Amino acid sequence: MGVTSHDSIPSLPASLLTGQKALVTGANSGIGRATAIKMGQVGADVVVNYVEDEEAAKEVVSEIEDFGGRAYAHRADVANEDEVVTMLEAMVDRFQTIDILVANAGIQRDAPFENMTISEWQRVLDVNLTGQFLCAREAIKEFVRRGVVPGTSNSAGKIICISSVHQLIPWAGRANYTVSKSGVQMLMETLAQEFSSRKIRVNAVAPGAIRTPMNRPAWETPEAEASLVEMIPYGRVGDPEEIATAAALLASDLLDYVVGTTLYVDGGMKLFPEFLHGG
Ligand code: NAP
Repeated sequence: MGVTSHDSIPSLPASLLTGQKALVTGANSGIGRATAIKMGQVGADVVVNYVEDEEAAKEVVSEIEDFGGRAYAHRADVANEDEVVTMLEAMVDRFQTIDILVANAGIQRDAPFENMTISEWQRVLDVNLTGQFLCAREAIKEFVRRGVVPGTSNSAGKIICISSVHQLIPWAGRANYTVSKSGVQMLMETLAQEFSSRKIRVNAVAPGAIRTPMNRPAWETPEAEASLVEMIPYGRVGDPEEIATAAALLASDLLDYVVGTTLYVDGGMKLFPEFLHGG
């Protein structure tokens, strides 16, 4: 069995999100990049959020424009309240509203627990958890203000939180990251409970091991990849496009009855594969 290859993913309907406005945070790299492009391919207008690499964000915008989509890049640190408020105000100004938030921006600052600094702890929680809180809060204000627009979507708005299998699986040396992601799970479920009566759908995608810059050392050599694949029953590392497809489906009316759910897209990583042979 090859550890890298898989057949190509079938395309989603080209009009899946036509007329909808999507904000994807951390959209200049990895999973966010693939998700912004996917949203554009299926008809959404897209805000490509980034914080550092403006050139990469502009390339994502160009790629969306090249196939006739509408997009622009917006720099904002998702952990900064004023910058998030301004980003949402600018989006409403430019695109009139927001229908879909993909809260994706995330970082790792790994350290053995006894050496973890307060800034490594705090920054990961600020970006991965507070960032999702701030973006969700500002998006929900607009969803509630606007309500359902018949003909656009059955929902008043959709939030897709990008979490991780590590909302469930402890991970030594990454206490900051695992705590941030388990926080994302409870944030997502609480918002889903609080706002579904107002037709706002909140769900999460929890990726397993996906081939992005964030975890490059885990897959960039054949040896590293083979060792990673031992933790994945399905026998391969995932691609960013597979997370993008899951996010686009969750944002669409095809999954209109899916509320407060985490969709694990992980090749079975959370199934305790070490128990496959005995235990
Ligand atoms: P990545 O390629 O490193 O991308 C991270 C993105 O987050 C970049 O676009 C980065 O923008 C952005 N970002 C970082 N800090 C930000 C901030 N303060 N404000 C706004 N944007 C910020 O990583 P990735 O693998 O695609 O990860 C995306 C999400 O998937 C993360 O939440 C991660 O935890 C989750 N995830 C990934 C995997 C995996 O295997 N790759 C598995 C599980 C979960 P700049 O480049 O401008 O800094």
